[in-house]
Amino acid sequence: MKNIVVQKFGGTSVADIEKMRHVADVIIQEKENGNDVVVVVSAMGHTTDHLVKLAHEINPHPSERELDMLLSTGECVSMSLLTMALQTKGYKAISYNAQQIGIITENVHTKARIIDIKTDKLRKSLDDGNIIVIAGFQGVTTEGEITTLGRGGSDTSAVAIASALGAERCDIYTDVEGVYTTDPRVVPNASRLEEISYEEMLELAHAGANVLHPRSVETAKQYKMPLRVRSTFKYNNKGTLILGVEDMEINKPVAGVAADLSQVRVVVCDIPDTPGEAAILFGSLAKENISVDMIIQSYARKVKNDIAFTISKEDLGKTQEILQRVKEQLGAGDVSFDDNIAKISIIGAGMIDRPGIASTMFKTLADSGINIRMISTSEIKISCLINKEDAQKAVKALHEVFNLGCDEIAEVKGTLPDV
Ligand code: ADP
Ligand code: ASP
Ligand code: MG
Repeated sequence: MKNIVVQKFGGTSVADIEKMRHVADVIIQEKENGNDVVVVVSAMGHTTDHLVKLAHEINPHPSERELDMLLSTGECVSMSLLTMALQTKGYKAISYNAQQIGIITENVHTKARIIDIKTDKLRKSLDDGNIIVIAGFQGVTTEGEITTLGRGGSDTSAVAIASALGAERCDIYTDVEGVYTTDPRVVPNASRLEEISYEEMLELAHAGANVLHPRSVETAKQYKMPLRVRSTFKYNNKGTLILGVEDMEINKPVAGVAADLSQVRVVVCDIPDTPGEAAILFGSLAKENISVDMIIQSYARKVKNDIAFTISKEDLGKTQEILQRVKEQLGAGDVSFDDNIAKISIIGAGMIDRPGIASTMFKTLADSGINIRMISTSEIKISCLINKEDAQKAVKALHEVFNLGCDEIAEVKGTLPDV
């Protein structure tokens, strides 16, 4: 039996027909190496952003079911075109969407989790000599409803499919040469990491380094799937290997810096200081599948508390509705929302038991004239909430103070993200 290799190509890698032809050559090279190849593909270029925009033009609050119906089409376009490119080059290839395979997710729209992947059809198609091209980002519920996995979710599709098939490895092809110490678009002399642990990568991804979807790293860790991020445009580049921490030597306290500009800070004022209030507040959000990130509760004065927390921008509308209702139940005062914020994080397994890392971070921000509005920490991460306009300055200063740069300038393809 041949080894199976899963390759995932992101939006910039298949942005136009010329790039698709190039991607077909990368796939063919893997096939010619003697492997069975399963490809997962994202929507072309900025297709998903464009579809989101259209949806909001026609309805400022589109239903999540219809959003999933709409957004899932982007990946279907690229999977068929890429399959045609492979066939034109003389290779046997077939495309499948999530429904055809049985990529089963929970019954949640816009951020569903995969619960099962059927492999019968995939194995049969591989046995028939096909290269398989699968639409990423999408799933189907047991009732046949179309779902999507959240923005950037094709990475998770790829790792989950690789795990279900027992693939030898999963390669995530993108527009940079691997995982860097920070976004190379912000700090051009950021260093490419040869390797990084699942744990650090998970924190980096959650902190806003969108080179990998956080759940793809979670799944890779769970199934011990070797994961590599590498460049579509540079043949045989080594990229970055994401692997178990026991295999690594840790010498720097900080492995990377990340910025997340997609959060909103919510403050609920004057909540009565009695047991159960926080449970009601966060329980009502959890029931609607809204994830909360940083949380701070102020010291209670005059038997009232303020609670501040952050949510994803995508959940703002739903959160506003819920809090309107729950505010009464809590007997709370004003509720305010602020999207002029950025979460800046430093991540590194090497910071465990090494004092002074947090104070260096705070001092560096202070020296740059940046005010810290919230702080949260985990064992291997420190995050500060700051004003959005200070984000790039903060990332550059922290990257510098923790000595993460190198002499080379990273090559980045594609267009700059909207910041
Ligand atoms: P794709 O379309 O291939 O899924 P993404 O845009 O989702 O690509 O992810 C790649 C981008 O992630 C890069 O172009 C880079 O700007 C950004 N990025 C952010 N943080 C990092 C990091 N630490 N290392 C590498 N890339 C990063
Ligand atoms: N096309 C989807 C997005 O833009 C999924 C992905 O690219 O991974 O978010
Ligand atoms: Mg991506």
